[in-house]
Amino acid sequence: MDNVKKAVFLDRDGTVIIDKHYLKDPDDVELINGAGRALSDMANSGYLIVIISNQSGIGRGMMADSDVRLQHQRLSVILEAFNVHLASIKYCPHAPENHCSCRKPSPKLILDTADELSIDCTGSFMIGDKDSDIIAGKNAGCKTIFIGENNNESATYSVRSISEAVNFLPNLIK
Ligand SMILES: [Mg+2]
Ligand SMILES: [Zn+2]
Repeated sequence: MDNVKKAVFLDRDGTVIIDKHYLKDPDDVELINGAGRALSDMANSGYLIVIISNQSGIGRGMMADSDVRLQHQRLSVILEAFNVHLASIKYCPHAPENHCSCRKPSPKLILDTADELSIDCTGSFMIGDKDSDIIAGKNAGCKTIFIGENNNESATYSVRSISEAVNFLPNLIK
C-alpha cells in the first residue's frame, strides 16, 4: 500500500524536553539539546512525529489537563522554529494506582495513533529514556531506541543522546 505511513513515536519528558518533574508552567517547556534538529531530520526523512507521554501529575491532582494542553501548545510553537509539525500528541492522564489501559508500558496510545493515522508500526520507531517506553514500543511492534547512560537490553538500539538516535533511522536525509 502506498499510503501506509511510518512514524517516530517519542516519549516527552527526558527525551524531547527537559524532565522537570511534574512540569506545570508552559513557560518551563524547554527542548533537550539537539532535539529540535533531530526531530527535523526525522520529519524530513518521511517520518510522522508523534509524542506519547505519561502525565500522571494530572491523576495525582498536581496539575490540570488544561496545564498539559498549554504545555503542548507551547511545545508545538517551539518546534515550529525547526519546521517540525507534531502529527499527534497523546498522553495518559492517570495515576498508576488507577490501573488504566493507556499508561506506558501499555502500547495502547501508540496503537491508537497508528490506527488513526494509518501508521505501519513495523516500519516505525519508539524512542524514550525509560524501560516503560521501550516495552510500550516493542509491544506495539515498533523498533525501539533507548536514550541513556547505559545500554538497555530490551531495546533495538541504545544511544546516549537524541542526536545520536537519528543515525539509526533508515533512509535518513540530513
Ligand atoms: Mg521520559
Ligand atoms: Zn491512562
